[in-house]
Amino acid sequence: NKTIILKSRPNGVPTKNNFQFTETPMPELQQGEVLLKALYISVDPYMRGRMSDAKSYVAPYEVGKPILGGVVAEVVESKQESFRKGAVVVGTLPWQQYTIHDVRGLHAVDPEVAPLSYHLGILGMPGQTAYFGLLHIGQPKPGETVVVSGAAGAVGTVVGQIAKLKGCRVVGIAGSDEKVSYLKNELGFDEAINYKTTTDINQAVSAACPDGVDVYFDNVGGAISDAVLLALNKFGRIAICGQISFYNNTVPATGMRVEPILLRKSALMKGFIVSDYASEFGAAAKELATWLKEGKLQYRETVKEGFDQIPEAFIGLFTGENTGKQLVKVGER
Ligand code: NDP
Repeated sequence: NKTIILKSRPNGVPTKNNFQFTETPMPELQQGEVLLKALYISVDPYMRGRMSDAKSYVAPYEVGKPILGGVVAEVVESKQESFRKGAVVVGTLPWQQYTIHDVRGLHAVDPEVAPLSYHLGILGMPGQTAYFGLLHIGQPKPGETVVVSGAAGAVGTVVGQIAKLKGCRVVGIAGSDEKVSYLKNELGFDEAINYKTTTDINQAVSAACPDGVDVYFDNVGGAISDAVLLALNKFGRIAICGQISFYNNTVPATGMRVEPILLRKSALMKGFIVSDYASEFGAAAKELATWLKEGKLQYRETVKEGFDQIPEAFIGLFTGENTGKQLVKVGER
């Protein structure tokens, strides 16, 4: 029964040496517990924060203890009334092939609604993040220009498509020509910018947004965000969702002061953590599932196969290996 533990805290970009594979013995199942077999394991940028010991909105992972994250798993044995053998669940579980769990925090997944892995993406945490950040903070109106950075990832692809559903002009910023083409040709973005090959990001953003920027959904921070803020319109809204360009910094980032822009533009900039909206998850999941079923949302995953691939899949988030949601398939149902 393989487990991945945090061997050491990264200094800068995480490496495979920060992770250690171990074997975990399986204790006997007690009354009230289930034995879970992991099927899909989610790797997410926020996990980088938990690998550090800095105080944040979730506790750091402990060195020598398993990494925890979103997992879709099958109940293979049960001594619990509410989750019978054969049921599929999603929850925050260790990076481990088989886990014994007392069912607290597990949610049943209906295999009829969508492929099981979708509950770690568009119908799970990243989908909810896109939904609430865009609709509650961004408040997009028809005809407005919405810019999203990290546009080809799990959250960004959903943000852009919901903005299109709301009648907006949508501009995505991502890190390769393939991603730019995917955003424009498959997801219906109006424009997309490859920030890695653009020589002048400020100019590229203003050219892609001739009417300025009304809503900015920020997944990355840094120079990309500075460029978008320079094109902001009066009463612009900025949802601070992620700052991935800083996650591996070893010294605090410095840069443009945004306050004068916010002042001049009467703009709103607001950070959020998806769990702020926990009480409304049910309604959002329903709407996302409906859009998906109606073909109004497209969805892509990048799936690595095999438990041993988990660290690599995680590290690849910081070099943009993924288009859409990055997952690792670790077991068959
Ligand atoms: P993604 O699927 O978007 O994967 C990360 C992507 O970030 C990569 O594919 C890469 O794409 C891009 N990236 C990596 N490094 C940089 C960099 N230095 N500059 C610019 N882009 C970079 O991940 P998610 O969709 O899961 O998450 C997106 C963001 O949302 C993250 O910042 C994450 O922390 C945040 N988040 C916040 C939540 C909240 O509650 N506030 C909840 C969930 C996610 P590319 O090829 O374009 O560089």
